[in-house]
Amino acid sequence: MENLTKCPCQSNKLYIECCERYHLNKKTPQTAEQLMRSRYSAYTLVNIDYIVETTLPSQQKKLDKQAMQDWAKSTNWKGLKVIARNPHFAKNRATVKFIAYFETDKGVMEHHELSLFIFKENRWYFVDPNV
Ligand code: ZN
Repeated sequence: MENLTKCPCQSNKLYIECCERYHLNKKTPQTAEQLMRSRYSAYTLVNIDYIVETTLPSQQKKLDKQAMQDWAKSTNWKGLKVIARNPHFAKNRATVKFIAYFETDKGVMEHHELSLFIFKENRWYFVDPNV
């Protein structure tokens, strides 16, 4: 019944009709929000290759894949809520504001983030503010 799994990005669609086609590289996300959602799904599925591939190419080598994998694996993701989106923040740039929920010993915690995305060579990339 794997095919009937709801997408972890909480779009209310099935995974096969939502982020799976991006994760399998069958399609590229058409908007920054789709990319952000597919990256969240990839974290929940510990698909670190996808996270790396969708980060700005000039930043990719600086990412610590092992640390990202350990973090994704040890985090119990609880959901995602998109708060605001600005698809025309600047030329070829968009922002998405969201909250990701995850469970800890102290209960469910919130991670708030305002992410920047750049449209380059026909696809969207995440700009990692920590690199
Ligand atoms: Zn999805």
